Amino acid sequence: MTEVIDGKRVAEDVVSKVKALTSELSAKGATKPGLAVVIVGEDPASQVYVASKSRTAKECGFHSLQHTLPADTTEEQLLKIIGDLNADASIHGILVQLPLPGHIDAGKVIQTIAPEKDVDGFHFINVGKLGTGELETAFVPCTPAGSMLLIERVRGKDLSGLNAVVVGRSNIVGKPMANLLLAANCTVTIAHSRTRDLPALARTADILVAAVGRPEMVKGDWVKPGATVIDVGINRIPAPEKGEGKSRLVGDVAYVEAAKNAGAITPVPGGVGPMTIAMLMANTVASAYLAAGLKRPSF
Ligand code: NAP
Repeated sequence: MTEVIDGKRVAEDVVSKVKALTSELSAKGATKPGLAVVIVGEDPASQVYVASKSRTAKECGFHSLQHTLPADTTEEQLLKIIGDLNADASIHGILVQLPLPGHIDAGKVIQTIAPEKDVDGFHFINVGKLGTGELETAFVPCTPAGSMLLIERVRGKDLSGLNAVVVGRSNIVGKPMANLLLAANCTVTIAHSRTRDLPALARTADILVAAVGRPEMVKGDWVKPGATVIDVGINRIPAPEKGEGKSRLVGDVAYVEAAKNAGAITPVPGGVGPMTIAMLMANTVASAYLAAGLKRPSF
């Protein structure tokens, strides 16, 4: 039987643990976790994400702050706000929603966030810590961190000797995912658009992660029997069967055929998706624990 990995349930478990950790922190007399979310401009998808992040932060008992800035905000104004948040002891996590308007250098903005408040894990310090295996103090990007938790639910924490193939090499998903799998003792291959014979490579994977952004690209016969398949992709495609102009979400994996071979697989939606916000909360509470001089909680 193929196990359908229930990301919604695991995400709820993470959020419950964050709530409990937040209460424990207050009981110890420490400052409650504070998350600041900064959004520039009116991109509707970004606004939905940001609202959801702020809502979950409140649900976790955090001090939740949102800066909603007009599209014509200058880079200097944004950097000033980040500088103020860096200096604010009530804030433990700073998240700048991407993409930023074209006149702002997103790289510069991200590198201005204090590494110890960089709960998105995009600062060079955190990237370097992950790359060198300093996982005790690194902030790891939320989507790969959440994907890793799903893999651990199926395979346990020590993945020694397993072959992992990560399709996609973005800084946000593919590369950090590969580093996490390496830290868990997998033999890791990163595939991308120039990889030769991807189907054959994918068939070597005990753990196959797809983070490509191409609807249902990974076919059923690319999946080794019994493999754990993690589908990070979120793609909206037309669904005329639901009515004119309707659409539906699919992943980067052709789910129905892949599920026939996989030992365990994440659905889309309801797999990796819900984990991202949950891990943002986990990183923020971890940051608050570290700021209070307490041991970092693990998830
Ligand atoms: P990205 O920055 O566009 O990177 C896509 C990667 O896929 C690139 O490395 C690219 O290779 C590779 N690729 C493209 N076409 C390929 C092909 N035909 N064969 C093999 N590799 C190919 O995307 P991303 O930000 O990593 O996101 C990937 C997917 O995850 C998207 O669907 C996105 O919506 C989703 N996502 C979901 C969450 C979540 O919360 N669940 C979070 C982030 C992203 P090159 O480097 O050679 O161009």
